[in-house]
Amino acid sequence: METILYPTGTGAERSAAVRAAARLLRAGELVAIPTETVYGLAANALDPAAVETIFRVKGRPNDNPLIVHIADLPALDDVVREVPESARKLAERFWPGPLTMILPRDPRIPDATTAGLDTVAVRMPSHPVARAIIRASGLPIAAPSANLSGLPSPTTAAHCMRDLSGKVPAVVDGGACEFGVESTVITLAGETPRLLRPGAVTLEQLRETLGEVEVDPAVTGRLAEGQAAASPGMKYKHYSPKAEVTLVRGSAAAFRAYVNALPGEGIYAMVFSGEGEGLAKPFFEYGAEGDHLTQARELFLLLRQLDDLGARAVYVRTPATDGVGLAVYNRLIRAAAFHFVELGGPAGREDTNE
Ligand code: AMP
Ligand code: MG
Repeated sequence: METILYPTGTGAERSAAVRAAARLLRAGELVAIPTETVYGLAANALDPAAVETIFRVKGRPNDNPLIVHIADLPALDDVVREVPESARKLAERFWPGPLTMILPRDPRIPDATTAGLDTVAVRMPSHPVARAIIRASGLPIAAPSANLSGLPSPTTAAHCMRDLSGKVPAVVDGGACEFGVESTVITLAGETPRLLRPGAVTLEQLRETLGEVEVDPAVTGRLAEGQAAASPGMKYKHYSPKAEVTLVRGSAAAFRAYVNALPGEGIYAMVFSGEGEGLAKPFFEYGAEGDHLTQARELFLLLRQLDDLGARAVYVRTPATDGVGLAVYNRLIRAAAFHFVELGGPAGREDTNE
């Protein structure tokens, strides 16, 4: 299959791309589309065969449910059984935007989409091209990240082409993603709202809106063997480049001394802006220490670049976990398969839920 890359730079290109994507989606085909978080691999959420193709193309485990994307609020009633007050409040403040809510599913949504759960994940993206495509399709759109399962999520159309060329009929190029990490996921299906995956909508903002919000243990730690995952996606190794990633805790100076002393080739460092001086290894900066939005935007891009360079090992300065930092931290601990080095403490110690 030849994959057509649709530009959206001009108004005419954009309408042509939207029309083509909507036609493909209605025909049960897959299309990679830009969103403000990462690129999504879109299909008709009501069509089990189309949804199964998503799982096959990505190599995604079947028990990892998909997020259903809608273009406007009335469409919410078509995909969920009931909309609690908490969901209305969150929608009012954060939709359209990078927030996914888990709600009781409407029977119209097939098992293939929710992995058989009686809940469904719903999001209204803000990216104008994504919204135009969803609206033109007239369908709820299932869309996980448009990468092969396990690889870093794609934040440009070129990444999508890398992973999916020849496997899907179309990729729509909407430029680089604004946030660069996947949406915040909160479940409203239980007693108390619970954060399942941190993203650009922060825990602090959710608490401002709802009051009490629990944090799932999988957000900052590794699930024990056999422990049930509230969000099935959290149990899988994720976002991993081929290079071995290690998170390093400690000061910038301690980091520099540690990394400089490492023997061997193919070792790279990922540091905060302005920290490269004095490093004897090649390094990338991924934003200022306090600038979590830039860190989030750069993260997957850099992980992919490091693979292109043939990096063997990558040592990363650990971000703080306030605000969007929690999302950056959450992706990094998975990219690192929970491998930490504590400078001044025991090496390789696993993270606990702090
Ligand atoms: P992705 O589409 O790859 O960004 O991942 C979607 C995330 O949402 C995964 O971690 C899923 O496990 C999670 N998710 C989707 N639907 C549900 C649901 N009904 N209940 C809990 N988690 C869900
Ligand atoms: Mg994904």
